[in-house]
Amino acid sequence: MLFMEFLFQTLYCFYLNVIIIIGFYQYFAYSQSDMREKVFQKIFPAFGTVNSLILYGGDCPSIAEQVKKRILELHRLFSFFEPESDIFRINKQAGREPVFVHRDTLYVLSRALAFGRETQGAFDVTAGAAGRLWRDAVRSAQIPSEREIAGCRSLSGLGDLILDEAAETAFLRRRGQQVDLGGIAKGYAADETARLLKEYKVNKALVNFGGTVITIGGEQKVGIQNPYQKNGESAAYIVVENKAVVTSGTYERGFFFEGRRYHHIIDPRTGWPADSGLLSVTLVGGSAMELDALATGICVLGEKRGLPLLEKRRIEAVLISDDGEIRITRGLQGNFFMGIK
Ligand code: ADP
Ligand code: MG
Repeated sequence: MLFMEFLFQTLYCFYLNVIIIIGFYQYFAYSQSDMREKVFQKIFPAFGTVNSLILYGGDCPSIAEQVKKRILELHRLFSFFEPESDIFRINKQAGREPVFVHRDTLYVLSRALAFGRETQGAFDVTAGAAGRLWRDAVRSAQIPSEREIAGCRSLSGLGDLILDEAAETAFLRRRGQQVDLGGIAKGYAADETARLLKEYKVNKALVNFGGTVITIGGEQKVGIQNPYQKNGESAAYIVVENKAVVTSGTYERGFFFEGRRYHHIIDPRTGWPADSGLLSVTLVGGSAMELDALATGICVLGEKRGLPLLEKRRIEAVLISDDGEIRITRGLQGNFFMGIK
């Protein structure tokens, strides 16, 4: 296997312990469980991905069904494509009138704006027009024109999303502007799932919404996919206890043209796909929503500008750079292992 040709070296720097590995490319996160325990798994589609719930003990099937219901409810509110969703209606009425939205939508939008400010606009839910342009580009493997890119770039702006908590409305100031919760919705959904599972007194569970993972109860392994391999093949794993583990990867959903990779995480400042030197970002912390937003933002910001944000929030990270290096933050030392397990 390609990734087995690696060079191992440990460096020590200010916040990071650095492990260098050469030869990675494709990446994902998955988890494994102790099969000796009574275990129930439910898999269902939402948020454009495959979602998995693994529950241990208790009345698992009915609890999993309740959780699924709640997740599909959130999917229907946050979907960029479904005409009835809050997000679709906000986008449709951009530049026209405020739209009445659900409390969940208001909450996630307001948190998204806060993460937008914290990442100096690198995480920007108002960059939906550029996101859509590049999603289409990736689908057809064709680079959009400079004019189209500039047009979409000019349509983003955190200050243009007006939330009115009292009236329970959201409004985009300018026509053509689009919000897209694709970079944060799964995180909120995973946090909601964890909250529900605790309410149902589930002692041990593993939630995996397309690479947005929450582990509940006891130590669990979360695999980190080899970016060079197909989904599901891990290159490394971490052992965590009651943590959220969230991955954003620029290697996902993309194409190569003349030596450059084009993908679905957009640098809102340029209107082009992020080109920060990071192939993927895995964050480990307490809130999946926080990690989801920051992982996407750090794909854009890059390591140097991203690390201080993580340090401030006591978030640990596994960063894979374009040239195949893997770096882990100090807090993961002893809990990060190379190989498949
Ligand atoms: P994934 O959905 O692949 O697991 P992310 O959490 O990084 O990974 O989300 C990527 C999605 O977020 C894109 O498909 C798009 O909908 C949206 N997006 C892309 N760039 C940005 C950005 N700079 N800020 C906020 N959202 C973004
Ligand atoms: Mg994200």
